[in-house]
Amino acid sequence: MTDRLAGKKAVVVGAGIGGLAAALRLRKAGAQVVLLEKNEAVGGKVSERRSAGFRWDLGPSLFTMPQILDRLFADLGEKREDHLKLEPLSPTCRYRWADGYQFDENEFFWSRPDSARLLRHAEGLYNLSASAFLESDPSEVWRKVWDPRLLPLLRHLPAMSPWRSLASASRKFYRDPHLQQFLQRFATYNGSDPELTPATFAVIPYVQARFGGWFIQGGIRRLAETLLGLAQKNGIAIHLKAEVATIEPHQVTLENGFRFPADLIFHNGDVLRAYQKTILHPGARAMAEKIAKPQRAISGFVVLLGVKGKDASLGHHNIFFSDNYPLEFQQMFRDRRPAENPTIYLCLSARSQPADAPPDHDNYFLLVNAPAETERIDWANESPAYTDRIIRILDEKFLPGLTKRIVHKEWFSPADFETRDAVVGGSLYGWASHGMVPSFLRPPIHSPLMKNLYFVGGTTHPGGGLPLVLLSAEIAVRLASKKT
Ligand SMILES: Cc1cc2nc3c(=O)[nH]c(=O)nc-3n(C[C@H](O)[C@H](O)[C@H](O)COP(=O)(O)OP(=O)(O)OC[C@H]3O[C@@H](n4cnc5c(N)ncnc54)[C@H](O)[C@@H]3O)c2cc1C
Repeated sequence: MTDRLAGKKAVVVGAGIGGLAAALRLRKAGAQVVLLEKNEAVGGKVSERRSAGFRWDLGPSLFTMPQILDRLFADLGEKREDHLKLEPLSPTCRYRWADGYQFDENEFFWSRPDSARLLRHAEGLYNLSASAFLESDPSEVWRKVWDPRLLPLLRHLPAMSPWRSLASASRKFYRDPHLQQFLQRFATYNGSDPELTPATFAVIPYVQARFGGWFIQGGIRRLAETLLGLAQKNGIAIHLKAEVATIEPHQVTLENGFRFPADLIFHNGDVLRAYQKTILHPGARAMAEKIAKPQRAISGFVVLLGVKGKDASLGHHNIFFSDNYPLEFQQMFRDRRPAENPTIYLCLSARSQPADAPPDHDNYFLLVNAPAETERIDWANESPAYTDRIIRILDEKFLPGLTKRIVHKEWFSPADFETRDAVVGGSLYGWASHGMVPSFLRPPIHSPLMKNLYFVGGTTHPGGGLPLVLLSAEIAVRLASKKT
C-alpha cells in the first residue's frame, strides 16, 4: 500500500515530534521528503534548557506508552533500544496536599480495591476504544467497531460514559476527596477542566498504570535528536529557520519567498493557525472560524529553578495540589486569568540523572496550568509576580525555606510558547476536551479543503501528548497512502 507514495514530493511543515515521525514514515514509504522548520532546532515543544550547570526538560517530562515509539522504530526497520534508553519510574508520581496527606502512585496504590475497580473499567474501555479511536482516523472507525469480540466490553461504558464528567466519575470511584482530585487531574493531561471532560478520559490513568511512566536517559531532547539523526541518515532534506508563509495545493512558500513544489503536504503546526494564516484557499477563513469555536486547551506557566541542597521528600515527579480545584479551572476557563492558588507540578530529573544539577543542588521544573490567553493577559508584566507567587505557595505550604535556597530562576509563559511553537494562545494541546464533539472529533487529519493536505500533531486527531502525536503521524501517512 505504501508504495503508492513512492517518488512523491512530500513537504512536511514543522519538525515537532509529529512532523519528524511523519517525515520518517513518508521517507520509508519511498517519498522524497522535505522538512521545513521555522526554529533553529527541531523538536518543537520537546526542548531543554541548560544554564549555570543545570539542565531542565522544558517541555514534556513524563513519557508514556513507549510501545508506540517502539512501533515507529520497528516500522523504520530500527530498534529503539539501539538509539534511546528508557527507564521506568517508580513511583510514577508523588502527590501531596497542604493538609499533610500524600501518597505515591505505584503498584501498591493501584492494587487498592477502589483503584483496582477503576482500572478494571478503564482497561475495558481502553480495549474497546484503542484500536477504533486512538489508532484510527474517524473515517476508518466504523469498520473497526463492528467487531463482535468488543461487545462484552460495552459493559464498562456506563461507569465511564462520555455523557458523565471525569469529576463525577471520580466521586463514584473514590470516597476520599484527595483521591477524587487525583483522578480529576488526568483531565489536565490534555489541558481540560475535569467538570467538563468526559469520564471516558479515565483511560489515561489506566494507560499510566498499565504501561508505566518513563524517563528518557539524557532527557527528552534525546528523542528529537534521535529522530533528527534518523531523518538525516535516510536522506530527508531538512531546512531550519525556514518559516512557511503560505500553503497552496501544490506549493509551499517560505517567508523569504523560496518555493517548494509538493504532491503531498503534511502540516505539523497548530491547525487553527494554519487555517487562519497559512492555507491559501477560499474556504480557509470559514474553516478557521468554525474550528475556533470550541474552547482551547490550557497553556502552561513554567518556572525553572536551580536550588541549593537536596530535598529528600521529593521524587522525580511531584504534584502539590491546591485546596480548591474547581476554583482553579473556573479562574482559568471562565474568568480567563491565571489561577490564584494553582496546583503545582514539580519535575526533578536530577533524581534519576544526577548530572542534571551541580553537586548538592537540584533542578526544579515547575509547571502550573495557565489560561491560553495572550491578548487579554500581559504576560511580560505579570510573569515575575506570578513566578514569585508559585514559589511562595511551595515555600509556605510544602517546602519550607525553598526561597532562600534558590540560586537560579527563570520562567516561560503562554506568550513564550505561542511565539516559539506558533500555537494560538500558547495552548499546549490545541482544543480542550470539553464535551463529546471537541473531545472525539478534533479538526481532521485529512483537510476537507485540499485533498493533498494532511495534519499531524497535537492539534489534530487523536490529540496532544507524545504518544498521541506519534499516532497522528502513523494515521496521517496511512491515510495518504490510501488516498493518493
Ligand atoms: C511544558 C509542556 C509540558 C508537557 N508535558 C508533557 C508530558 O509530560 N508528556 C507528554 O506526552 N506530553 C507533554 N506535553 C505535550 C507534548 O509536548 C506535545 O503534545 C508534543 O510535543 C507536540 O508535538 P507536535 O508534533 O504536535 O508539535 P510541536 O511540538 O507543537 O511542534 C510543531 C513544530 O512546527 C513548527 N512550525 C509551526 N508552524 C510552522 C511554519 N509555518 N513553518 C515552519 N515551522 C512551523 C514549530 O516551530 C514547531 O517546531 C507537554 C508540552 C509542554 C509545552
